[in-house]
Amino acid sequence: MSKTSCDGCGRTVTVSGGIATLWSFGSDAGTVGTAITLELEDGSSHLLCYPCIEAIPDYPTVEDIERLEQVDDETSRLETL
Ligand SMILES: [Zn+2]
Repeated sequence: MSKTSCDGCGRTVTVSGGIATLWSFGSDAGTVGTAITLELEDGSSHLLCYPCIEAIPDYPTVEDIERLEQVDDETSRLETL
């Protein structure tokens, strides 16, 4: 597990280094990653925290990810341009 930052909002996240087990998913924030890598249709990949995953549309674009911003520890949103 390593610390890095979310490509969307920039908050510090941890990425699980090993194989995530289904039964531990989300059950203990200290032992599982708090971000996942999302691959877009254009082939680019972006590390996003779960609040950002919640905030983006079903078929996000790079522009959507660039608009992500942190609201608080548990919430992200798409910045309104
Ligand atoms: Zn984020």
